[in-house]
Amino acid sequence: MNNVLDPDAANGAPSAYGDAVYKQCPQCGTPIKLAPMPQNDNIKGTLWSDGYLENPDLPEPSILGKCRACGAIGCLAELPVMEVPPQPAPGVNHNFVALTVDDYAALLETLQEISLQFHAYLRVRCWQLNKHRRRNSDEPLPLSDVERANLHELLNLLGDADTDRLFTAEILRQLQEFQAAQAVISGTFKDQVGPIARRLWALVRDRKAELVKIDTDEP
Ligand SMILES: [Zn+2]
Repeated sequence: MNNVLDPDAANGAPSAYGDAVYKQCPQCGTPIKLAPMPQNDNIKGTLWSDGYLENPDLPEPSILGKCRACGAIGCLAELPVMEVPPQPAPGVNHNFVALTVDDYAALLETLQEISLQFHAYLRVRCWQLNKHRRRNSDEPLPLSDVERANLHELLNLLGDADTDRLFTAEILRQLQEFQAAQAVISGTFKDQVGPIARRLWALVRDRKAELVKIDTDEP
């Protein structure tokens, strides 16, 4: 059982995860529990070619969360901290609810005047959540029209930074626009992302469009 995701198991359980922080829903005042991240640098996980880091021991990484009581969506980092945390009560779940792909899509339709970075984040999350059904599955599942439209919008938001160019190449690869992907992934990348760039380069060369795991230990 996973302590981070299970509030009852986590109540009072000593762990390497430190103390949870309780924030408060600005709409209804319900406590929202944020599980702490592991306090060590050895966070391992499976890195996928769409940039998603999968780790069954960690909660879904999220900037946004939904209040379990009223459904309000808020930026978790910006919610006010409760100075007096609620008393642990059996059966009471204060964890925030993770947003679904439909939540992200609804935000993209309703939010206006958002920053470029936040806009790109919402579209990346739509992309990655839609990809979840393809992780660890051998069934080929072509991109839907909605997914393709999201990726085309996302391409317009990405810039020249190394991570942006990796995203750009990966999106073009998944869209099977291999020549354009090749032009991007053939550029120079910093050492830290070298293994990822080399793996994407080989996938583009081999005209492979499916989501893959990236082994960052490769030389
Ligand atoms: Zn609420």
